[in-house]
Amino acid sequence: MRIDEQYYLIIDLEATCCDRGTVPREEMEIIEIGAVMQDARTFDVVSEFQQVVRPVRHPVLTGFCRALTGTTQADVDAGVPYADALSTLTAWAAPFDDHLFCSWGNYDRRQFQQDCAFHDVEYPFGTRHLNLKEEFARATNSRRNKGLSGALAELRLEFSGQPHRGLDDARNIARIVRRVCLGA
Ligand code: AMP
Ligand code: MG
Repeated sequence: MRIDEQYYLIIDLEATCCDRGTVPREEMEIIEIGAVMQDARTFDVVSEFQQVVRPVRHPVLTGFCRALTGTTQADVDAGVPYADALSTLTAWAAPFDDHLFCSWGNYDRRQFQQDCAFHDVEYPFGTRHLNLKEEFARATNSRRNKGLSGALAELRLEFSGQPHRGLDDARNIARIVRRVCLGA
């Protein structure tokens, strides 16, 4: 879980979804980008980012998605276009120039790639990405990859904030990194 870079850029995305197959995986779109910049030496979170994004393929959120993410229709209607959200994100991250994109699993990386392809904008994170879910399994000698809540439970930590909110998920991932790397 230790990295050579100065910062962990931990990103957690929320996306359009459904429990009845009306939003296929390849049509899911980001509705929230939550991120924290975590100092890789002190493990302090030094900056946070949150942006709601307006989806275009399935602009009306399903009841399932609203319930899961706590995001309202009014939230996404007032959200910004994906390309703008991505530029705001990269502008926020730029001053922390030596950072590594990390997320809990590969879902977030793939969702960024999918949305970048759909909107014809360049994927901004280069080739490197750290899958913290795999790193956690390795660090705890677990044969299984755990979800975020499972990992917190293993560390006897309570989820802080609201699960499936991008920024809250990112904050909790940072708590896991801190606990595993620092023991605090
Ligand atoms: P998470 O970071 O765990 O909140 O999940 C990211 C996104 O994955 C959510 O915003 C949903 O689009 C999708 N997702 C998560 N859990 C489910 C689920 N149980 N059923 C359908 N989609 C889900
Ligand atoms: Mg999330």
